[in-house]
Amino acid sequence: MDGNNSDEEPRLGIEPETFRHAATNMVDYIINYHRDIHKRQTFPDVEPGFMQARLPKEAPDYPESWQEVFSDIETVVMDGMTHWQSPGFFSYYPATTSYPSMLADMLCNGISCVRFSWASSPSATELETVMMDWLAKAIGLPECFIHGGHGPGGGVIQGSASESTLMALMAARNKTIRQELSRDKSLRTHDIVARMVAYSSQCTHSCMDRAGVFALVEVRKLPVGKDGVMRGSVLKEAVMKDKDDGRIPMFVCASIGTTPCCTFDDLEEIGKICEEQEIWCHVDAAYAGAALICPEFRYICKGVERVTSFNFNPHKWLMVQIDCSAMWVRNSDDLINSAEVNPLFLHHKAQDSAIDYRHWQIPLGRPFRSLKLWFVLRMVGIEGLRSNIRRGVQEAKHLERLIRSDERFEILFPVTLGLVCFKFKHPGLLLEEENSLNERLYQKIHNDKRILLVLAMVNGVYFIRVCTGSTHCSIAQVNKCWNVIKEMAEQL
Ligand SMILES: *Cc1c(COP(=O)(O)O)cnc(C)c1O
Repeated sequence: MDGNNSDEEPRLGIEPETFRHAATNMVDYIINYHRDIHKRQTFPDVEPGFMQARLPKEAPDYPESWQEVFSDIETVVMDGMTHWQSPGFFSYYPATTSYPSMLADMLCNGISCVRFSWASSPSATELETVMMDWLAKAIGLPECFIHGGHGPGGGVIQGSASESTLMALMAARNKTIRQELSRDKSLRTHDIVARMVAYSSQCTHSCMDRAGVFALVEVRKLPVGKDGVMRGSVLKEAVMKDKDDGRIPMFVCASIGTTPCCTFDDLEEIGKICEEQEIWCHVDAAYAGAALICPEFRYICKGVERVTSFNFNPHKWLMVQIDCSAMWVRNSDDLINSAEVNPLFLHHKAQDSAIDYRHWQIPLGRPFRSLKLWFVLRMVGIEGLRSNIRRGVQEAKHLERLIRSDERFEILFPVTLGLVCFKFKHPGLLLEEENSLNERLYQKIHNDKRILLVLAMVNGVYFIRVCTGSTHCSIAQVNKCWNVIKEMAEQL
């Protein structure tokens, strides 16, 4: 092989020198994007269907130049984007990123390896195993979740919290089916499934409801207290009632950092009940899990040694870009047994001694995601990640002080991490009137477009939630955000 195939079509789409030139443009573009992002409007001025009008009706038959493609980035794409990295972005939970993470994804894409079994990419499998242990130790998870520990526990990188919840529910479902069948062989699987009940709270992320739909398991939504917390006593009562009714309680999804209000279910109580009742206890800490890297926040997860599986998204608040969702299980056999199917073409000689992550997940092939954890953990370091979390918390505390100093507003839930929930009040208003007032305030802020935040509801009360801690957020940006909120409120 002389490596010279200049007479042929370029195997990688374009010539290497064109790639080098384009990649340099792209890196500059990304650096400038972040440098100038404060000049962009966070939420775009586009209407649904806008893209059709900007593009030709069909794909080109012959190659276009890099210049043509590059120049369309701004005009076709950027101007219709919601800028998640914008300092005006206070919506949802953040999707923090970093240059080390981007570098890792460049390599991942550049070598383009697909991974499902150990043999399909040995380094990718083993780096994932080591990274999941690094990460488990960095956030203070108990030893039972560590691959290098003494038990059958370990971690896997899923694409999303939604997949983690579904995998946990499927594993619990299959475990329950096996247990019931071992008690009584004459039972039919779908009758067992029809008797199963999973529990979560009103504040649990909707991915739990979807997991229930996919797994055909009924999900009972339990009430939360005024403080947004699901308590053990409420769970226990529901479990006992279901048992009396001949149902099979088999899964609880506890939230550490609920999506509407960032509250923390009582893991100590819930975990204890799940242990007593032999119920799978899954923890969804999609956002808040990242904060556990700071020892001072570990109290939010008190009782975690009792749970069966635990998940958080480094792609939210740990400077690793989407997608990267870390999931740990106490007993990996539960996951594997629920999803193991072994066709001949996937057999390999190490299959009994090595981890095949395909049994732990829904897709077969997936990218080399552990590279970005490795790069970020090394180039930012645990201390760097801690400072980033603490910075976001300080921004939230600052906003909390500003809001508390204005009696027209009320803070609704404790501000523990980077989320501030508040409502605009008016003396003498009924709940519905106050709700509609807050909805109008939200609409005004949204239409103004200087900042982006969302409206949420718990126990029938509407409120506005502001999430700090995004990549380019700062105290100065929080001040601007507060000024916009006040200005819009005054116009009501
Ligand atoms: C963001 C979030 C999710 C959804 O995460 P995906 O990775 O997009 O599926 C689930 N639960 C909680 C608590 C979240 O904050």
